[in-house]
Amino acid sequence: MKWRCGVCGYIHDGPEAPNVCPKCGAPKEKFEKLAEEQANLVDRSRLSNDLHMQLSALLDKALEIAEKGIQDNLDPACVKIFTRTKECATQLKQSIKAEIVTHISKGKWG
Ligand SMILES: [Zn+2]
Repeated sequence: MKWRCGVCGYIHDGPEAPNVCPKCGAPKEKFEKLAEEQANLVDRSRLSNDLHMQLSALLDKALEIAEKGIQDNLDPACVKIFTRTKECATQLKQSIKAEIVTHISKGKWG
């Protein structure tokens, strides 16, 4: 079973709601049980959401490397690769954010 804090949206997995919300401190009464369909959506999307976050962190690293390469400015061919990397990583990061917003709006988060 899954329970959602009505104050902050924290999702708790377990047979009962927690006594206190670990995130915001709201009491047990503020938790509502998620309907089975909603709980299934959360379960089904957790892996994908984690993968999106891992990928976003890797893209941050790629952006950092690309920036160093652009600063190094050895020759135009190198800078072209680093500039493309920066553009692609930025677009992918923004796409990931947009996808996560879609997941949240469809209940595929938690
Ligand atoms: Zn809470």
